[in-house]
This record gives sequence, C-alpha cells and structure tokens, in this order.
Amino acid sequence: MAIQVTKSFLPDKELYKHYIDEIWERGWLTNNGPLVKELEKVLQTYLGVKNLLFVGNGTIAIQIAIKALELQGEIITTPFSYCATTTSILWENCKPVFVDIENKTFNINADLIEEAISEKTCAILATHVYGNPCEVEKIEEIAKKYNLKVIYDAAHAFGATYKGQSLLSFGDVSTCSFHATKVFHTIEGGCIICKDDELYDKMYKYRSFGHINDDYFTVGINGKNSEFHAAMGLCNLPKVEEIIASRKASCETYDILLDWTKLTKPVSPESDFQYNYAYYPVILPSEDALLKVKEELGKVDIIPRRYFFPSLNQLPYLTEYSPCPVSESASQRALSLPLFFDMDKSLIRFISNIINSNI
Ligand SMILES: *Cc1c(COP(=O)(O)O)cnc(C)c1O
Repeated sequence: MAIQVTKSFLPDKELYKHYIDEIWERGWLTNNGPLVKELEKVLQTYLGVKNLLFVGNGTIAIQIAIKALELQGEIITTPFSYCATTTSILWENCKPVFVDIENKTFNINADLIEEAISEKTCAILATHVYGNPCEVEKIEEIAKKYNLKVIYDAAHAFGATYKGQSLLSFGDVSTCSFHATKVFHTIEGGCIICKDDELYDKMYKYRSFGHINDDYFTVGINGKNSEFHAAMGLCNLPKVEEIIASRKASCETYDILLDWTKLTKPVSPESDFQYNYAYYPVILPSEDALLKVKEELGKVDIIPRRYFFPSLNQLPYLTEYSPCPVSESASQRALSLPLFFDMDKSLIRFISNIINSNI
C-alpha cells in the first residue's frame, strides 16, 4: 500500500463503539447533540479558550468568521497556505490582498503588512503555516492602529502553544480544521474560537441556519457537525499528547538522517513556543530537484505532497496578479514528507536515503 504524506490516527475501536452505542440509545444523531456539546467543553478546557464552536469543517469555520465580523472590501492575507484560506475570502465576496511571507517560518511577513493597507482594508487573515506561530504581537499592534479585525487560519496549529497559550487563542477569531489529515481530527470537522461573547452568539446562530427552534434571527448557513464526528473527537483528544510525541520522534529522526547541506526547513525563531509537529516540510534547492525527488519517491509508492503549491497569489481564478517572490519560490521548492503517528524508523531511513541520493 502506498505511503501517503499522512495517515489518519484511529482510536481504539471499542472506545468508539462505546460512543456509538450511546448514540443508538439516544437516537440523537446531529443538531447540537450531547456529544457535540461534550466535545466543545473538553476542547475548551484542553485549549484554555472560552468560546468554541464545533463546526462541519475548517473552511466553513473561516467563512462564518468572515461573515460574522461583517467583513467587506480588502482582506490582507498570506499567499502561502492551503487554497481554502484564499477561496473563503473570495466566497464571501471580499478581495484578498496578498502580502509576501518571510523566509524563516513562511508565515505572512508582518513588516510588509502596513504598506498593503488601504482605505478598503477591513481585516488580516493569516495562517500559522505548518503550525509555526505568526508574529501575533506585531499583527495585533497593526490591527489596533488601523482598526482591523484579525482572523487566524489555525488549521495547522492544534496542540501548539505560544507563551504558554494555545496558538488557537489569538486574534479576534481563530479557526481550526479537524480534517482526517490533521494532528487532531474528527474525520471531517473544525472549530471557531473567539473571545467576544456577542460574536460567539452570532456565530452560534449562523452555524444552524440562523434560527433556534421557532426563533428566526438572521440568514444562516449549515455549519453543524454530527454526534458521530464528535465521538471520534472525544476518542482522539486524550491521545493528542501521545500523537504529538510520536510525530516529534519521527521529525527528530528525519532531522538526523536528511542531508542538510542541500536542504532547509522552515522553523520558528520563537523560543517560547511549543511545536505540534503537524508537518515535515523540506525545502529543496530548486523546483527541478523537488520534481526529481518526488518522482523517485513515487516509484516506490511514497507520496509526499507539495504543501503548498501553487503560491495562492498565482491561483488561476484570480483576476489580478500581485507578485510575492518569497512565497512563489517557497511554493516551487517545498515538499511535505510523510509524517504520522507511530511511523517506522526504517521507513524514515528509507525515505531519507532516497532524498539524499537524489539532490
Ligand atoms: C486543512 C486546511 C483548511 C481546510 O480545512 P477543512 O477542514 O478541510 O475544510 C484550511 N486552511 C488550512 C491552512 C488547511 O490546512
């Protein structure tokens, strides 16, 4: 069987069955059921946050956040992320304004944000890419100065902490994805986190068509998630530390075995930061080198992924092109290597050898 860039963690089947039995007994499958509520509660405790909504996926999370903050006009954003970061902006009829990334973490370059602000700018939507923190203090300062909202697409940041706080606790809103490929997953799923109670209340209503029983408040959407997905989350959450520790060990093995005379990797310069080992990206010397390595790994059924390609400022459906040379270069050369729970050391050695002998 092919080795993919990641393999979903699956919990003890008996434990999952125990939750499924409960669902059968109650006959309550979705619509803010008891397991959804329980998952929200344990996630709030685990993350140390107040207002958390469990939603259908990490993309609807961003869309609801944009809607609830009533954003219109230009949103400053990163070109180096998954396409959902940009498409959510477009879907909500706002205009993405790309600010290039810095070359250590590949996160949005906070020093370039101010010059991209215009009268139409309403918000900053940045990604903690690979789980490394954006310059949250600098971004907050700029947002205050220009009265902008801040949304973090924290889809990669579950389990990462900065200055003792979950990375999901920053910004006006942080969103996360609990998709099967992420460090913590609920098969499909995601969450929205915010500090403001009124905003939480608004997003709570948006999540369920904008009504509660017979009270119709607003135009809403279906952003709900089910009891079955919540059950998977309840099984996986107690395993998160173990999952992260196992991924850390695999990353350290790659660190030892890969040839760093030819490769680099994005890292956070922050000392007060705990990584979640969400990805293992390496930066090849050139796109040709990347394609060669990808081809050689493909021959033995190992499928790394080009996270993230293309640079989002080059998405074909954008009407304008604004150059982001650092991001474009990173996109051409970044390859995320297989990384998952309980990965065999011999597999990491095998992959590393192939890479080293083809660069
Ligand atoms: C996975 C991901 C998303 C989308 O999450 P879904 O749950 O798949 O909708 C959004 N942004 C980033 C950066 C992601 O990696």
